[in-house]
Amino acid sequence: MVGRAVELLGKLRAEAGLARLAGVGVALPAPVAVRDGAPVSPPALPGWHQFPVRDTIAAELGCPVQVDNDANVMALGERHAGTGRPFDDFLYVKLGDAVGCGLVLGGGLYRGAASGAGDIGHLQLTEDGPLCTCGNTGCVEAYCGDAALVREAVTAARAGRSTALADRLATAGALTVADVAAAATAGDPAAQTLVRDAARRLGQVLVGLVSFVNPAIVIIGGAAPGIGPVLLAEIRGVVYRRSTPLATGSMPIVLSDLDDRAGLVGAARLVSDQVFAAC
Ligand SMILES: [Zn+2]
Repeated sequence: MVGRAVELLGKLRAEAGLARLAGVGVALPAPVAVRDGAPVSPPALPGWHQFPVRDTIAAELGCPVQVDNDANVMALGERHAGTGRPFDDFLYVKLGDAVGCGLVLGGGLYRGAASGAGDIGHLQLTEDGPLCTCGNTGCVEAYCGDAALVREAVTAARAGRSTALADRLATAGALTVADVAAAATAGDPAAQTLVRDAARRLGQVLVGLVSFVNPAIVIIGGAAPGIGPVLLAEIRGVVYRRSTPLATGSMPIVLSDLDDRAGLVGAARLVSDQVFAAC
């Protein structure tokens, strides 16, 4: 994959007529030891443990490379050019295959002692919950990740709870998170329930995070197209009902307006901080 990424970057460079690169920022859906430029025991990327992503790409391209966790990078993007711009303290929650959280505190990205801050995907919500990719049960990701939504959608389709999902499953042979989103957007009650259940679990996690960190805003990115409104309504319901008025009295919970571009902007920002600091 790293070879393929380098190859694609080469094509982009040729198209854009760039003689040399000032730097490259890389976001991985994994816990990243930022000092080493490598992922550490990433449940979503089996086989990548301690692979020297930064040094490998830097050697290929001959420029500075900075690697970080995707939620961190997207939080940087939001801080630089998105909804997070006016806020010194906010949480960026990244949904998708892997669930994570980037923390911006005091105007900068907060990574913690070993750059593991915000790794919320494998917090355990229940002891006897569904099996997670990490090997444990009942993790946030096992309830709120894309694979969890798809798993529950297949169950609903097979149990006859949703004709829309059952029809799609019969035609395509499998379901994707986009199918769940499409069914929920079209008003399918079973699909909407799945989205709401996942959102409620995420909301419960946010209640804890919000009271602990007291962010000015919570930005949610990575939701499948169309499910944002259902997701947001449920999350807001849980967080505003269960949090203290001091922490949430004036705290908005919104969807990212940069969406996928948060990663691009954040990766550019990540490495330019390093490149220009060195000058
Ligand atoms: Zn897990």
